[in-house]
Formats: sequence, C-alpha cells, structure tokens
Amino acid sequence: MEKKLVQKLKKKLEEEKTAIENQLKRFAKKDIKPPGDWDTIFPKWDGEAGGSALEKAADEVEEYEARLPVEFSLETRLKDINLALEKIKEGRYGICEKCRKEIPQERLQVYPEARFCLKCKK
Ligand SMILES: [Zn+2]
Repeated sequence: MEKKLVQKLKKKLEEEKTAIENQLKRFAKKDIKPPGDWDTIFPKWDGEAGGSALEKAADEVEEYEARLPVEFSLETRLKDINLALEKIKEGRYGICEKCRKEIPQERLQVYPEARFCLKCKK
C-alpha cells in the first residue's frame, strides 16, 4: 500500500481513537488491568430516602443498562483501532486477517480499522 495513504489513514485512526476515548470518559472509567478495558460506572446511590429516591434509583439503573451496549461497541471499536495502529507500526496494515489478501483501499478509507476484507467479513 502507498505510504502516503497509510499515513492518511493513520491520522484518521488516531483522531477516531481520541474521539472514542473522550466519549468513553464521559461514562466509564479506564481499567488499569487489563489495559484498554473500560468499565461503565454504576450510578451512585445518593442516600435519599422515600419513594422519589427509589424512583430515581430505578431510572439510574435503567440508564446504566442503556449505557452498556454503547460502551461495548465503543470499546470494540477502540480495540480494532489500536490493533490497526499496531499493524501500521509493524508494517502489516491493510492485510485481511483471514485470507491474507490486501483489503481494498476503498474499504479502508471508509473503515480504516477493518480487520477483514468484505468477503471474509460475511
Ligand atoms: Zn479476506
């Protein structure tokens, strides 16, 4: 692959990485172990008593449950981005992990963290 294109995609990946990390920071804390893993913060119980507090707690649990799939998809994406950056460093970027053929550039431009070609993705 052209070096210029790899550099361009690398920049895109780094920008995406920062954007995703900023999104994750809003509702998750970064785990120290294993690195790269994030935990959704469970809403704090503020100690209020009575029905309204219970209602509020139920809302917060609901919110927490709604957050989980979002966090999961961001985390998966972040892992793929880190993997792609790693591959760029090692000079094996843009190769399908399954069939070992080059992933078409058009696909990488849309989806730079792609690990498989479209055929193997199916
Ligand atoms: Zn493939």
